Amino acid sequence: MRLRNVPGSMEAIAESPYVVHDPEKRPGAWRAYFGNDNPIHLEIGVGKGRFIAAMAEQHPDINYVGIEKYSSVLIKALEKKEEKGLSNLVFIRGDAELVTLWFGKGEVSRIYLNFSDPWPKKRTARRRLPSREFLRRYDGILEQGGTIEFKTDNRDLFDFAVEEVPFSVFRIDQITYDLHNDFEMNAGNIMTEYEARFSAKGNPIFKYILCRKEDLTASGSAQENME
Ligand code: SAM
Repeated sequence: MRLRNVPGSMEAIAESPYVVHDPEKRPGAWRAYFGNDNPIHLEIGVGKGRFIAAMAEQHPDINYVGIEKYSSVLIKALEKKEEKGLSNLVFIRGDAELVTLWFGKGEVSRIYLNFSDPWPKKRTARRRLPSREFLRRYDGILEQGGTIEFKTDNRDLFDFAVEEVPFSVFRIDQITYDLHNDFEMNAGNIMTEYEARFSAKGNPIFKYILCRKEDLTASGSAQENME
C-alpha cells in the first residue's frame, strides 16, 4: 500500500530546507537549532505527517521533529508543513535505530509512536518500534519525566509492546484498549492517517503512555493495577 518510490521524492527531500540533513551533528544542539528553549517532541514513523503537523499547529510552544524512513511518504509531510507555515516542525529522513546518534542525553521530552509497523515475523521483532531494544534507545535521549506515547489498532503488536515494558526502565502510566471511548485518554487526541482509516472500519484503538519507573509516584500506576 505504501508507495516506496514516488518519482522525484528522494531529490526533493535531499534539497528540502525542512529536513535536517546532518542530524548526527546535532546532539545537544537542538534548542540552538530551533532558537528557543521549548521542549522537543519526536514522532517516529510520521508517514504522511497528519498527526505531527496538527500537533505543531496546536502547540507552537513545542518543537517537533518528525522521523521517517521513506522519502515517498515524507514528501507529503513536508507539504503539510509548508501549507501551514510551521516554524516549530522539522524532519529527519532516516532509520530511528540511529536516534541516539541524533539527540543528546535528556534532550527530548516526549516520543510518539503511532501505528508502528507490526513486523509480525519473530526474526524481525527487533525492528518493532516499541521493542525493548528501541525502549533502550529512547531511554538514552528522554529527559527526566519524559514520556513515550504509543497507539495502534494492531492487538498483537500492542500486546507485544506491553510485554516488552518490564524489560526496560519504563512503566505503564496510562493504558486503554479503546482510546476513542476513553474520555480521559482521548482528550485532545489527534488522529493519524492510519487511525482515521482503521477506526472508520470499527477497529478499537489501543494506547499506552510510558514514563520511567523512577519518575512514578507510588500510587496510580496502571501497570501496578494490572499485576
Ligand atoms: N504514523 C503514521 C500513521 O499513523 O498514519 C504512519 C504509520 S505507517 C504504518 C508506519 C510508518 O513508520 C511508515 O511510514 C514507516 O516507513 C515508518 N517507520 C517504520 N519504522 C521506522 C524506523 N525504524 N525509522 C523511521 N521510520 C520508520
